[in-house]
Amino acid sequence: MHSFPDVFSLTGKTALITGGGTGIGLAIAKSMYAAGATVILVGRRVTELELAVKELGPRSFYFSHDITEFDKSENLIKRITEAHGPIDCLVNNAGINLKKPAIDTSVEEFQTILSTNVLAAHVLTKAVAPQMIERKSGSILFIASMASLFGIPMVVAYSAAKSAQVGMVRTLASELSSQGIRVNAIAPGWIETAMSAKAFAGDPERLKKVLGRTPMAKLGKPEDIGWTAVYLASQAASFVTGVVIPVDGGVSIGF
Ligand code: NDP
Repeated sequence: MHSFPDVFSLTGKTALITGGGTGIGLAIAKSMYAAGATVILVGRRVTELELAVKELGPRSFYFSHDITEFDKSENLIKRITEAHGPIDCLVNNAGINLKKPAIDTSVEEFQTILSTNVLAAHVLTKAVAPQMIERKSGSILFIASMASLFGIPMVVAYSAAKSAQVGMVRTLASELSSQGIRVNAIAPGWIETAMSAKAFAGDPERLKKVLGRTPMAKLGKPEDIGWTAVYLASQAASFVTGVVIPVDGGVSIGF
């Protein structure tokens, strides 16, 4: 039996967080760092990543990488593992959104959203899973969305992608859990980040609608997602796999 709070500790663990330089990914990195983990951030913009690592501290590192360059994923994981040892937790957080009416969304736009949110997450999972299988231990997290759970106008490609992530979580959990790898998702409600600010920009009615149907009547903070990620990656969640946890101030159950 682990003692409290050791059961939540990530000391000695290494977490790879895509999109870890900003917003929710950075908050996950901060929470995991505070729980004792070494955190590896992946993103495209070096300036953001450098700032993040400076803010986090000496157990944080970054690799500048575009996750849609699928043929470079295995090499990325190889480089990270050589430099920092095996990866205990993969957080598929990097994502992009597109706000547009469904009938105006082109095939190319749809594909771009799927590439980042779905295919890149799959390719990275494939690259990391073998070492987790070998060690019979690992945790893989996806950052899904309310768009995984119910219909939201103007985000047809994003909804398809985020719903696909939930399917992936269930399939991956079914395939990998017997080998010591737990696979779970967090479905954040509306969280204050650059991405949500962009979605609300010039659309005060949308913000009003969101707050009006959120029982807690406020937006969430990125760290609300961070602490849930720590729980899911920790020993405390050792019998939790294949689930999607809404962290949403009640949006998904409110009326
Ligand atoms: P941000 O835009 O701040 O974060 C997205 C991150 O993903 C950035 O750090 C970006 O870094 C990285 N990224 C995007 N594309 C790529 C790529 N091709 N290769 C590598 N990194 C990439 O938004 P959030 O923090 O809000 O979003 C994080 C996740 O949370 C997303 O999956 C989003 O869908 C989800 N989410 C957000 C909600 C919210 O209310 N904010 C609600 C529900 C879900 P860079 O551009 O430097 O590559």
